[in-house]
Amino acid sequence: MNIKKFLQNADVLFKSKIQKKFVPLKITMIYLMVGFLWVLLSDQILYLVIPDAHIRTILSTFKGWIYVIVNSLIVYFLIKEIVRESEFWFKKLNGSYEELEKTYEELSDTEEELRVQYEELQKNEEILRESEERYKLALDGSNDVIWEWNMNTDKLLFSDKWTNITGYNLDEYTSLNSIIEDLVEEDKYDLISNIENLKNNKSLFFKSKFRIKSKYEGYKWLYIRGKVLKGSQGKAIKVAGSITDVTETKKIQDEISYRAYHDHLTGLPNRTLLMNKLINALANRKSEKNKGAIIFIDLDDFKKTNDTLGHNYGDELLKEVSELLKKSIGEKNIIGRIGGDEFLILIPNMKDSSYAESLGKKIISIFKNPFQIEEKQIYTSASIGITVFPDDGEDINTLLKNADTAMYKSKENGKNKYCFFDINMSNDIFRKSLIEKNLRFALKNKEFYIYYQPQIDLTSGKIRSLEALLRWNNSELGVVSPGEFIPIAEETGMIFEIGKWVIMEVCAQNKKWKDKGYDYETIAINISSIQLQNENFQSVVKNAIEETGINPEFIEFEITESSLMDCFDDNIRLLNHFKSMGMKIALDDFGTGYSSLNYLTLLPINTLKIDKSFIDRITMSSRDKEITDGIIKLAHNINLEVISEGVEIEEQLNLLKNMSCDIVQGYYFSKPVSTDSMEKFLLKENK
Ligand code: C2E
Ligand code: MG
Ligand code: MG
Repeated sequence: MNIKKFLQNADVLFKSKIQKKFVPLKITMIYLMVGFLWVLLSDQILYLVIPDAHIRTILSTFKGWIYVIVNSLIVYFLIKEIVRESEFWFKKLNGSYEELEKTYEELSDTEEELRVQYEELQKNEEILRESEERYKLALDGSNDVIWEWNMNTDKLLFSDKWTNITGYNLDEYTSLNSIIEDLVEEDKYDLISNIENLKNNKSLFFKSKFRIKSKYEGYKWLYIRGKVLKGSQGKAIKVAGSITDVTETKKIQDEISYRAYHDHLTGLPNRTLLMNKLINALANRKSEKNKGAIIFIDLDDFKKTNDTLGHNYGDELLKEVSELLKKSIGEKNIIGRIGGDEFLILIPNMKDSSYAESLGKKIISIFKNPFQIEEKQIYTSASIGITVFPDDGEDINTLLKNADTAMYKSKENGKNKYCFFDINMSNDIFRKSLIEKNLRFALKNKEFYIYYQPQIDLTSGKIRSLEALLRWNNSELGVVSPGEFIPIAEETGMIFEIGKWVIMEVCAQNKKWKDKGYDYETIAINISSIQLQNENFQSVVKNAIEETGINPEFIEFEITESSLMDCFDDNIRLLNHFKSMGMKIALDDFGTGYSSLNYLTLLPINTLKIDKSFIDRITMSSRDKEITDGIIKLAHNINLEVISEGVEIEEQLNLLKNMSCDIVQGYYFSKPVSTDSMEKFLLKENK
């Protein structure tokens, strides 16, 4: 109900009811006035109206009372009527008031409702305005193009950003077909097939990355997204969405993925890419007859180049080498760098292994000439391992391991070589790694012990000295010969700690035996080049001598020729130092290495040990006999004593006696024996 209606109602009520109901009041007033006139004029009226004088007298006498009685009755009825009317009006008014109050309440509610609605409307308007602002801001800030394409008319609409990104005005291209025809090249078919899917209702959403020719500078990579709008019959009629310029992102992504698959120094494929190619090559082999190969190349002594000339030269050398390799391998093969100085060539397809062999030879030949790096000429070579698939294996791990094994074989065989993998090689490698693994715990587990072999003086026939020989008994491998584990200990550098233990152990035993008064000159300890070159070696020796209290004159060091050659001057200085302390030095395995008789005079040695390989042959080859004889004479000329190693038979002994060899060592007299057995020997000799 509204206010106007309420007022109208109130007016009608007043006019019709209130005015009408006050009629008795007016009548009462008139009646009272007539009554008054009656009192004033009653006698005259009675005289006129009533002829009977007697009745007139009675009426006149009681006219006051009649008037009062009649009036009282009238007043009574009037009051009653008024009370009744008042009650009626009071009720009426009360009802109207309540109605009025209700109407008022209703009105207040309506007003409140209106206010809330109005506030809500205002709020919504504000939200809408903010959202519009935000949308505009997002559009301006996002750099995205908003697009809409009508599928029926091929009409295409873009927002302003289209021009910023592509350089084309908004009215230059207004149809999707013309854009695809004129501006999209490589990604055309992808894009068309995505659009076809939309048209055929196969998908509701549209996403595609493609290049378009920009108006000014090359190509732009665009990422287009859209959603289909369907008509009343459920048919796609429009697509709308956004277009983002992803040229920069794509560039960065390409760069990242290039880096992920290429070596940063040489630009060659890296290990990951090569492995992918290898997986493909293995999967794509058409038949058992198709073969392929992996050629593993490791530069020889690359570390030396790096250490002596510096890393810049090393890097340049790697670049030069990779360039040459790239040129030499043929188009169908793939080369990559898989580690510092390691390259790998994948031959995905070949007729037979002769192809891989010819490539191996070719690679060896490219290292014949020096590499010119700035003003320096650097010579280097490569060791190569070749493995053929499927013959040697059909999975990448096996093939890589095989190629690596074959490469190591080339190194072992003297470097600058290629070697095909064969199954025996992998057994060697497995054993080697097992030895290395166990060797690491051998000292801690107290698995080492020393055997002693006597050296017999050929003049007296008695023990002249002893040689200490290391033994290793491992729980997994059993007794491993030093010929097998010492090279591994040297390669891994473990020999330094092991050798330290040997020196301490032998010096202590030597001291005990000397204290007991056994009659021998020295105990010889074998020292490898790795030990000699360690800067702490001198203090290790000094420490062992001091701790055990052994006289240095009772110690002899056996050094091989090759270990002396590594750092010749330093080694000579060190040996001279030991010699000055009273120790003796023997040149071990003479005849197997450089065997240059010329420099023997330069070495601070006391004894020359002729290698067993000579002694083995002196009974069979007169030439070996002559050489051995010559060595002994020459050694005597320069005041060196000669020990012949590996004397096993009497015939050898006799020949050596005739050659005036000073000392012999070999199974003929005794194999290397335990400390206890050796002590028994010494005891016997002493008697
Ligand atoms: P080496 O110093 O030339 O030791 C002589 C080797 O010839 C010893 O082999 C010895 O057992 C063996 N031998 C001696 N007489 C005969 C014989 O009549 N017939 C045969 N067939 N062999 C004989 P072993 O003990 O196996 O040691 C091999 C090599 O291991 C040693 O050659 C030495 O170079 C190295 N080596 C042994 N102990 C140590 C050590 O404590 N430290 C270092 N650095 N090298 C050690
Ligand atoms: Mg020796
Ligand atoms: Mg020897």
